[in-house]
Amino acid sequence: MTSWRDDYERLIKPAVASSDVTDAVLIDHGAVAATGEITARYAQGRRALVMADEAGFGAAGPAALASLAAAGIAVETLILQADPLPVASVEEAEPFRAALAADPSLFPVSVGSGVINDLVKYAAFETGRRYVSIATAASMDGYTSAGAPLVRQGFKVTIPTRAPIALIADLDVLAAAPVEMTGWGYADLAGKSPAGGDWILADLAGAEPLSDSAFALVQDHLKDWLAGPEGIASGDADSAARLFVGLTAVGFAMEFHGSSRPASGADHQIAHLWEMEGRAYQGRKVSHGAAVAVGCLTTLALFDWLLEQDLSRLDRNTVLNAAPGLNARLAVVDAAFSDPEIAARARVEVAEKHVDRAEHAERLDRIIEGWPRTRARLRRHLYRYEDMADMLRRAAAPISAGDIGVDDAHLVRTVWAAPFLRRRYTICDLLHETGLWHRALTAVLPRLSSIRGAAE
Ligand SMILES: [Zn+2]
Repeated sequence: MTSWRDDYERLIKPAVASSDVTDAVLIDHGAVAATGEITARYAQGRRALVMADEAGFGAAGPAALASLAAAGIAVETLILQADPLPVASVEEAEPFRAALAADPSLFPVSVGSGVINDLVKYAAFETGRRYVSIATAASMDGYTSAGAPLVRQGFKVTIPTRAPIALIADLDVLAAAPVEMTGWGYADLAGKSPAGGDWILADLAGAEPLSDSAFALVQDHLKDWLAGPEGIASGDADSAARLFVGLTAVGFAMEFHGSSRPASGADHQIAHLWEMEGRAYQGRKVSHGAAVAVGCLTTLALFDWLLEQDLSRLDRNTVLNAAPGLNARLAVVDAAFSDPEIAARARVEVAEKHVDRAEHAERLDRIIEGWPRTRARLRRHLYRYEDMADMLRRAAAPISAGDIGVDDAHLVRTVWAAPFLRRRYTICDLLHETGLWHRALTAVLPRLSSIRGAAE
């Protein structure tokens, strides 16, 4: 197991040096005390607008304000109330955007975790501003990513924005965050295992080539970052630090690749559907990482099943003749969503990734020919479902749909609809295009509901 300092030196510092967007990443004990000095480089005499929610402000706000004051920076604050919890939507970002739009002399500073960082990222981008981000939990990988995954008019989209110009992660703050939030970050990182598998399959089918450098920046280190889940559950500072470094590296992989492909596949499509529903369980909003934990395990279960199949023996013409045309697929999409606006958006995504018969035949040839080599690679790359469930359990992350209040019937509906959400090619698309989707779901879904979660 490498130390977080080693990974910071050999992965994060070179990534910052090659980043066109992020100029500084400071990860250390007591780092929030450098907020003033770092912000002064970019604010250049302007006042700072510190934006937070109550929880994030409580974690690092007073120390950040003191540091800004010591650096001679005048400060205003805009703090969203804790009840109801802020959600990751364009509408929720409006107070931040409006405050920045009203006063061009304000320099934005975000104090918080996933939702707040995304809201400020979006508001700063919309108003042509850069911003400094102070992380308060190792709860997701979006601090250094370019996109802001937000719900806009009911549909989860990744809005192109810009990562912060500087990111400050105080390890004492991260270690003091609720362990359940660190568990969400662990689950967000765990999702990179099936996401990497999805990219390998997209490359196999010829749907989207794999970038060796972006893939390696995430996947070469993943097993190391995910080692020691007990440290996550116990609030160990070094474990949170290693996790944060891993999540930050993933953010850079997305920046360098120009999309979230290195970090997000079917696992995130499943999670996004629950996020779009605004799912709550036991009176609280289900977090991104909690939803990804279940999406990750669901996708790994599909991979386990796929790895048992011999795709090199597929009969190409039988598959082609049985494949539904675009209109038939769109009818299925319409039936999968009760909200007509969401169905309309999904139709666009499905039409975009639908291939005609000639291209479908080419894909099948590639899959049939390349399967033995790809299967061997996937076996080396992927975690088995049981192993990942065990690790997530030890990290105190959710491990079953029941843990986030999703019953079996709703889980089936979600897995069914998830591939319609994005044009990004995943294992679900490969299963559709090889005519194996129904068989795979029938085989895998009972397994998902048979594993009982910690909350049951
Ligand atoms: Zn994520």
